[in-house]
Amino acid sequence: MIARVSLEIALRKEFDYSIPADLSGQIDVGSRVQVPFGPRKILGVVTAVAEESGHANLKPILKVIGAQTLVTPKVLKLARWIGEYYCCAPETALKSVLPEAVRKEDASWRERLFVRALPVSGELPKLPKRQRDVWNVVEERREILLSELVELAETTAATVRKLEDRGLVSITNEISERDPYANETILASQPIVLNPAQAAALEKIVEAMDKRNDEVSMSNNETKASFVGSSTSSFNIHHSTFLLHGVTGSGKTEIYLQAIAHALEKGQGAIVLVPEISLTPQTVERFKARFSSGKLQTLVAVLHSHLSAGERHDEWHKIRQGRARIVIGARSAIFAPVEPLGLVIVDEEHEQTYKQEEAPRYHARDVAVMRGQMENAVVVLGSATPSLESFYNCKKGKFALLELPERVDNQKMPRTRVVDMRQTARDGKGTPIFSPQLKEAITQRLERKEQTILFLNRRGYSTSLQCPKCGHVCECPNCSISLTYHRVEQKLACHVCGHNARVPNVCPNEKCKNPAIRFAGTGTQKVEDILGKLFPHARIRRMDADVMKKKDDYRRVLGEFRHGEIDILIGTQMIAKGLHFPNVTLVGIIYADSALHQPDFRAGERTFQLLTQVAGRAGRGDIEGEVFVQAFTPFHPAIQYARRHDFVGFFEQELEFRKQLNYPPFSRVALLTLKGRNEDKVKFSAEHLKRELEKMALKDLTISGPAPAPLLRAENFYRHQIMLRTRAMSRLSLALAKITATLALPDDVTLAVDIDPVNLS
Ligand code: ADP
Ligand code: ZN
Repeated sequence: MIARVSLEIALRKEFDYSIPADLSGQIDVGSRVQVPFGPRKILGVVTAVAEESGHANLKPILKVIGAQTLVTPKVLKLARWIGEYYCCAPETALKSVLPEAVRKEDASWRERLFVRALPVSGELPKLPKRQRDVWNVVEERREILLSELVELAETTAATVRKLEDRGLVSITNEISERDPYANETILASQPIVLNPAQAAALEKIVEAMDKRNDEVSMSNNETKASFVGSSTSSFNIHHSTFLLHGVTGSGKTEIYLQAIAHALEKGQGAIVLVPEISLTPQTVERFKARFSSGKLQTLVAVLHSHLSAGERHDEWHKIRQGRARIVIGARSAIFAPVEPLGLVIVDEEHEQTYKQEEAPRYHARDVAVMRGQMENAVVVLGSATPSLESFYNCKKGKFALLELPERVDNQKMPRTRVVDMRQTARDGKGTPIFSPQLKEAITQRLERKEQTILFLNRRGYSTSLQCPKCGHVCECPNCSISLTYHRVEQKLACHVCGHNARVPNVCPNEKCKNPAIRFAGTGTQKVEDILGKLFPHARIRRMDADVMKKKDDYRRVLGEFRHGEIDILIGTQMIAKGLHFPNVTLVGIIYADSALHQPDFRAGERTFQLLTQVAGRAGRGDIEGEVFVQAFTPFHPAIQYARRHDFVGFFEQELEFRKQLNYPPFSRVALLTLKGRNEDKVKFSAEHLKRELEKMALKDLTISGPAPAPLLRAENFYRHQIMLRTRAMSRLSLALAKITATLALPDDVTLAVDIDPVNLS
């Protein structure tokens, strides 16, 4: 027998190996194997097993990793699709479907020594005091880890071994699973009686789950998986993808929980994707409380980046072995080997973090929809501010729209006031960070012992260091962006490459050398400083990526906030998402325009989403919430529609804008970025690539550029871009694969292909 192997190096080619007799029976499609490749030993995945090969003199497979095949045929199929659609080497796609901790050979089950009491026949022999003490502990516990016993009985392993010699205890080496949640006590939760809107939504989802099962049992044929790429796909008559549009607090999560329960009843599993940032202990606990308490401890597996490699290994194998039926995780959890898969949930489906920014540049939401199609699973996308793409898919009838128009507790949406910051500017002094209105509102909250959240979409003390006299801005020497000033450390830092510099004493401009170089822009640190001066008695905490270095920091601060030990919480994106704090009655958005002025056609959409999400943090308790939005362009539609909580209004006008410019969802975009140290070579290569694209003479293709990328220089590389727009992405992906395979680029120029990009910089 021979095996075809996809190696872990991106050669876009698979190789045949012979299966040696001692490994036969252990190798199947999806097995992870080690094979010789030239002088090296390389890991790979078996993609096919056959009787014979077209090649002679095959080298043998050296070893198999893991007792089970690691890539299931279904996930393998999904990986192949990713390689084709996202235009990357199949090996790269295949690599991304297994977590590193599983892929690597070294992470494995942790084995530990367990001590167990053996039945004593007759009288207990007389023991020396120290052995007696140890025995007492073992007898009481019946089973205990050796390490724990040594600590508890203040003894040594040698003493325990003596008990083993006497036949009183056994010491065995066994797998001991690492459970990241072992120390949490999770109280079981019961399903809540749904309100009519929730019940109607759940009914649709359940109906679709039942229907799709019937289809599978009737005909086990291949699904036509073609939702992405072509708008003329033969689409299933029954909806299998839902968009659950409901404001924060409208009870979406409760629907997820009950839909999952339905999947379990049918003997199916579920995958729940949440953005990394929302994957808080709070979120995980809600799922564990419903499905993983008491005897069902392993039912929910969690996959995210804060786990140790060992924990990730164990969580993943729990899924692969079918002991965990529900997976909750960030982006890459979409590849979890849940089988059979009944339901996929993508919470906060509009979130940018679902897009992977390195090859394979997949979008987990789109992969989820595709996987649902391939495996006949129902997909539920949830959001208070759906992406234009998903909402448009509902309009076109591809997805079914489910709406939860009200909060569960019937609370009103917070009252939002937009403050025109242009009117607060004082002569010669610039603009204050806090408008009088916001200051007044904070004062009231402090008096009433209610809590405030202040939101700013930026880290650091101020964005940049700018000379008031000559206008000089300190820039990163490697990247074409301004450096951010960090006050506590007295340094300038580049948020792209991490470059660090000391703060200059005088303006670096030779002709200026002004000592009064001052700080422009506003960062969370500066807000914290000024706030401290305005409200010296308030308990203020800042929460951003600079302060929250450890995962426990995040947890701890949120805990303090929840217990009312903090009056005002200042933060970046980190605090914009899904947190529930009943005592927060005021949310202030310091500078709502910051996301608007980006060279990106989604700038308006992002601003709308951000404002809506942040505003959702206010008034989740009994008191009505209030939101202050400070802006320099207060009449921008994104701000005005967000103020009125009018998603559909925003959608309609934004759609019109996209249509005029032929941007998604009316087209699909591929962004080609060329980068290299020599700008001329990069430019030349981009021109060359453009000519190759034109030669293909594809119908329905708009080529824009080449042009310098908005971020022209990053980490000393120059970047130029070509933007492609088409309605038929699958066809374009194929064409791009052909071009990139033969394209002759200078050695030091590289090309990155990003299909459906979300970051255009
Ligand atoms: P979302 O996910 O849309 O933000 P959640 O599902 O978290 O909303 O619901 C918000 C709160 O309301 C939660 O505490 C949840 O337990 C509760 N809740 C959800 N549905 C109901 C219901 N039908 N009746 C009462 N409380 C509910
Ligand atoms: Zn830099």
